[in-house]
Amino acid sequence: PAADQEVFAAEMERTFIAIKPDGVQRGAEDCLELGFKLVGIKVVVPSKDFAQKHYHDLKERPFFNGSCDFLSSGPVIAMVWEGEGVIRYGRKLIGATDRQKSEHGTIRGDLAVVVGRNIIHGSNGPVTAKDEINLWFKPQELVSYTTNAEKWIYGDN
Ligand code: UDP
Repeated sequence: PAADQEVFAAEMERTFIAIKPDGVQRGAEDCLELGFKLVGIKVVVPSKDFAQKHYHDLKERPFFNGSCDFLSSGPVIAMVWEGEGVIRYGRKLIGATDRQKSEHGTIRGDLAVVVGRNIIHGSNGPVTAKDEINLWFKPQELVSYTTNAEKWIYGDN
């Protein structure tokens, strides 16, 4: 679904974040200080076919082919992050799709110059997040664990 059709809830959830090939080359993973829990990560060069699956919602858009070529042009760091509200927070940290509209202090706002090379991807809502996590990761590649900081992040009552 489009971002504006997604319904958000403040509950424990997971999102899919990927540092795109330009972001990997430019060290954008250093910018990721989500303060959430990383439960899956791998480095992959997606095939064109795989990139088409990832961007299937955009099939009819003029930039679909270019975006798929680009996503499959080099290593991508694929991640799943977990925490309360992480989907919306991830989008906020990433910034708007078009760099001209993304705020200073966001990853795209600080690093991207053109829309087709915008450094990073993040699921735009709960439905998309589920689909993307399933596409990129097998269940056994995701890890559930407790961190020592959690009780300080969430409290324990
Ligand atoms: N994109 C593009 N031109 C556009 C809009 C999007 O090249 O006019 C690319 C851009 O890399 C974007 C991706 O297609 O990240 C997916 O578009 P979407 O609208 O889903 O934006 P996102 O969710 O990545 O912010």
